[in-house]
Formats: sequence, structure tokens, C-alpha cells
Amino acid sequence: RLYNQVQDLKGSIRVFCRVRPVGTTGDSTPSCLDMGTENELAVYDKSGERKVYKFDRVFCGGSTQEQIYEDVQGLVRSVMDGYNVCIFAYGQTGSGKTHTMTGTTVDDVAGRGINYRALDDLFALRTERDTEMSYTITAQMLEIYNETIRDLLSEEQGKDNKLDIHVTQPSGLNVPGATQIPVDTTSDVLAMMRVGARNRHSAETRMNERSSRSHQVLTIIVDGVNRVTGAKSHACLHLVDLAGSERTDKSGVEGERMREANAINTSLSALGTVMNCLASKTKHVPFRDSKLTQLLQDSLQGNAKVTMLMHVAPEGSSHLETVSTLNFGNRVA
Ligand code: ADP
Ligand code: MG
Repeated sequence: RLYNQVQDLKGSIRVFCRVRPVGTTGDSTPSCLDMGTENELAVYDKSGERKVYKFDRVFCGGSTQEQIYEDVQGLVRSVMDGYNVCIFAYGQTGSGKTHTMTGTTVDDVAGRGINYRALDDLFALRTERDTEMSYTITAQMLEIYNETIRDLLSEEQGKDNKLDIHVTQPSGLNVPGATQIPVDTTSDVLAMMRVGARNRHSAETRMNERSSRSHQVLTIIVDGVNRVTGAKSHACLHLVDLAGSERTDKSGVEGERMREANAINTSLSALGTVMNCLASKTKHVPFRDSKLTQLLQDSLQGNAKVTMLMHVAPEGSSHLETVSTLNFGNRVA
């Protein structure tokens, strides 16, 4: 693996917090948040008491997609040097996770999210380094729903496309059979995203609003060969839009809804525990506790770099969920 030109990134886990602008979901409750310095966020509870949370960086409701990308760009670029990278969007449904990762419509260039920007950036970096390195960039897109993994890039319509995790492969890609699509241009990326969205949508019509209750994992695989020395590099960038972190009120919830709530709870708390173990350098890390942590195992440890993007809704009506998200973010760092 190549370690040259690595950005200076302090620590291997960073936690950012992004506040969604007020009112984008039609909620007219006033904000319960207050922006402090660039790494503090204050939350007021119902009695008006103020509590301050600290993160590596806090992005206010007015922050742009470009500003968010600027802060993860170094991380994305380190994939070209052989580092495995995971970027997670965490938060309750409606807090802006998909806005950050995917963004608005593809025609709105300023609204494009991290997924598009990262790929465009990798293409640019590949061109920049072309005299020295030859890179291939490939994409894989999976969905984890109720602890089951599905291939979102399969062209086979109407199939269930269920996949399984196999014992850790040295490549860091442990889902054999997952469709991998070579991507070379922005239009390849847009075509790939369309296939993913269509597969996701077809599952959604069977299970309404399923997307908020499943994790979407877009993996960009970068393989490089040094044209002079023949030295090889291989790394994965995982861009994860997590299931909504809101706690389902389990009273009166049965069957499928109960299974979903339990599965989400399991995977998000497993993720929190794993990150906490990694941050505190605990010897035994329980990766096998959920499909999500098992899938990303190789890209969470070793020389991996991880960023959590905590998303919060500003409205007072979301106060409890916001506090729970901020606490989760503070626990993993
Ligand atoms: P989630 O994926 O967490 O459920 P979404 O990304 O779908 O949330 O966001 C909910 C709504 O708020 C969407 O209509 C989205 O376009 C809008 N939204 C979220 N974040 C922003 C933002 N930073 N700026 C403008 N609109 C936003
Ligand atoms: Mg979403």
C-alpha cells in the first residue's frame, strides 16, 4: 500500500454534526438549537435549560453541500493512497441524511451530495496522477434491511438479490456475488445511481417507506498500480446512509414493524459499540453483532479512517431524538 501524499488527519474517527434548516419537513415548531463556536452545538430542553455538545465540527442549517464536502475531501482522497474509509450519515428520519449523502436532484449541481462529489473528485485525482499511477474505480451498492443484505446494482429485475457475508476476505470486500460496476465518468455514476434507486424503489412499493428503515451502503473500490515500480494499492470508500435512528414506540407495534425496529436498534447500537471499542482501543471488538458492522469490519479497523456525520432536526418537537443523536455521536468519539 502507498502512504504518500496523505492528508494530516488527526485521529482515525471524527464526528461532525449537521443541523438541517428549520421547516424543510413542514414542522413549524421553533428551533431548540443554538450554534456556538464552529465545534459546539447548544440544545435547549423544554424547561429552557441549555446543554452544550462538542464535535470535531458543527455545520449550521445554512451550510452548503460544498462546505460539507470540503471537510471530508481529505478523507475521500486518502482512499487513493490505500486507506479504507467509512463515512456514515446518522440521524432520525427527516434530519437530512439522504440530503447530505445523495443530495437533491442530479440536475442541481450545487445540491449534489457527498456520493457524487467523492466520485468526481476521485476521477479528477486519477487524471492528476495518471503519469505515475493507473487506477481503476468500481462501485458496489448494497442495502441492509432487517439484517438481510440485498444487491442494489443487480440488473436482474424482480429478483430478491439476497446476498451473504463470507469470512473476511483480504480485499475488504466480503460479499461475494455483489454486482460491481466500473465507473469512469460522471455519467457512469448517474446511470449507476439510477439502477440503485430503481432497485430500492421496487422494494419500497412492497414495503412502504422502507428506505428510512434500511441502511444503504455505496462502496467505491479503488485499485491502483504504480506505472514505474508496479506497486499496487487497494482500498474501499464506504458511503453509508443509515436507517433512521428514531426509537419506534413499541407499544402496539407487531409483526414486520417490530422486526424492523429491532433490526435497526441492533445494528445502530452494534455500530456505536464497535466504534466505541475502536476509539478506546479495546481488544475484543464485537463486529459480528450485526450485518452492518460485519460488512464493514475491514474498513473500520487497522489503518481505516472513519467519519460520522450526525444529523439533527432543529425543531423543538425533535428535542428528544436530537439529544439521543448527539449522545450517540459523543459516545463514539
Ligand atoms: P433523511 O434522509 O434523514 O430522512 P432527508 O435528507 O430526506 O432526511 O431530509 C428531509 C427533508 O429535508 C427533505 O425534503 C430534504 O430535501 C430536506 N433537507 C434536508 N437537509 C437539508 C438541507 N441541509 N438544506 C435544505 N433542505 C434539506
Ligand atoms: Mg433518507
